[in-house]
Amino acid sequence: MSSHARASAPVLKRIARAVRGSSSTLREDLVCYAYDATDIHSLPDIVVWPDSTEDVAAVVRIAHDTGLPVVARGAGTGYTGGSVPVSGGIVLSFECMNRVLRIDTDAAVAVVEPGVVNEDLRARAREDGLTYPPDPASLKMSTLGGNVAEGAAGPRTVLYGRTGDYVAGLEFVLADGRVVRTGYLADTTGWDPAPLVVGSEGTLAVVTQVAVRLTDIPELTLTCWAEFPSLVGAARAVADITAAGVPVSVLEIIDRDTLTCSLEYVRGEKPENPPEGALLIELEGTEEDVRRGAIEVRQLLEDGEATGHRWAEDEAERDELWEVRRSISASLARLSTGKINEDITVPRSRIPDYVDRMREIAEAFDLPILTFGHAGDGNLHVNIIVDRADRDQMTRARRAVTQLFDAAISMGGTLSGEHGIGITKAEHLSRELDAPALETTRVVKRALDPDGIMNPEKILSDRPNPWWKGLDDESPGGEE
Ligand SMILES: Cc1cc2nc3c(=O)[nH]c(=O)nc-3n(C[C@H](O)[C@H](O)[C@H](O)COP(=O)(O)OP(=O)(O)OC[C@H]3O[C@@H](n4cnc5c(N)ncnc54)[C@H](O)[C@@H]3O)c2cc1C
Repeated sequence: MSSHARASAPVLKRIARAVRGSSSTLREDLVCYAYDATDIHSLPDIVVWPDSTEDVAAVVRIAHDTGLPVVARGAGTGYTGGSVPVSGGIVLSFECMNRVLRIDTDAAVAVVEPGVVNEDLRARAREDGLTYPPDPASLKMSTLGGNVAEGAAGPRTVLYGRTGDYVAGLEFVLADGRVVRTGYLADTTGWDPAPLVVGSEGTLAVVTQVAVRLTDIPELTLTCWAEFPSLVGAARAVADITAAGVPVSVLEIIDRDTLTCSLEYVRGEKPENPPEGALLIELEGTEEDVRRGAIEVRQLLEDGEATGHRWAEDEAERDELWEVRRSISASLARLSTGKINEDITVPRSRIPDYVDRMREIAEAFDLPILTFGHAGDGNLHVNIIVDRADRDQMTRARRAVTQLFDAAISMGGTLSGEHGIGITKAEHLSRELDAPALETTRVVKRALDPDGIMNPEKILSDRPNPWWKGLDDESPGGEE
């Protein structure tokens, strides 16, 4: 049970009156803000659509006075329950703060409100001959606020880095309603608090403005599709290509069942002999570097285990290959009533070992486990397809998840490469962080949010993943 107060009618009225934007307590509105991509649901007491930083600060001040939880929400595409108001309270939804405020072409910096959708920023930057490299596969939906709060990565992280590498400054509202501006937005010197907020999943502050670095549009992009008789063979090619030092900007791995599922979803095709593994490879940079890199990649594929490869001839073919990749999550969601999507990461050289271990775990627990992901930076999306009504299968899935995490950590990896911890992985945080690291996290949380109103029950929580609710076995299991 939540230790937080539920909102009384006078407090709800006070919130509604405090903002220039709008708000609602109607059930039909609340249900639209009660979930994210994890399919975990919990109703807020009120949803507020702020119109300005002042609106956000006013709402947070009321939360501070009354002890109501504040949950910031972008597009709700998160995979760890981050924007689900599990303790009720106020959802601050940023649909109306979705303006690109300015693009400073001299500094190559864009200043945006948190509700700007990633792809909209990229489109706007292109008008000035620039681009914004971080590209989560959810880029058509997810927002800059959500990307910053999750420290989002994506297919291009292998060459360009993650969201945090592009944050030039932030404006955020602290748990008592005070507003902080950093970096480009304030010309501050000294210690920069912004990196603390990046990846903090709304548990420390609410981001109200983001300044991000932009880069030049690469001269040339070449896209290749390669097929392999084994997934481990594809994983070995990932290691070979990255070791070759070519300007590879995308290295996505896809296993057979995932590929079949996505092809059927996108093209209505059911291939007769699908490859066991496939790679989507992209090279970006100067024309000279990319053309030279392509020759090297071609050679590596031909010397290695690839059974075939083809290079996209034009933009249309490139889009088609990307559509297969970007439709994976949606296509897998149709397979059953539940998809447990974990984003473990291991050092690239350990991907073949991890794939072997994942297969052993799938067999031991008799579960379908499919995988794909940003193999170029060691990030594998491990998807267990489950029937949520089947308690025995759910119990096995819970134990399998723990072993998948343990395997990643034992190989020098992490239990989350990009989706964050939220509520679904909170029970596993201590598997990876040692006592001093956990205590440091708690100290920062207490210092910035002493009353625990900012997105409670996320990251630092003993609450089990709500997906396991009702299972007889309460323990997460794992290696003995
Ligand atoms: C099909 C699909 C593909 C995906 N691919 C990727 C991928 O390639 N890489 C990747 O990293 N993730 C990926 N994700 C996960 C998700 O899209 C990212 O985590 C994304 O950054 C979430 O953005 P959002 O706007 O949907 O945020 P939400 O889901 O609404 O919120 C996410 C978290 O951010 C917090 N938050 C939101 N806005 C603010 C704010 N203004 N201030 C403070 N906190 C805030 C919320 O409280 C929550 O904790 C994918 C998801 C889907 C459904």
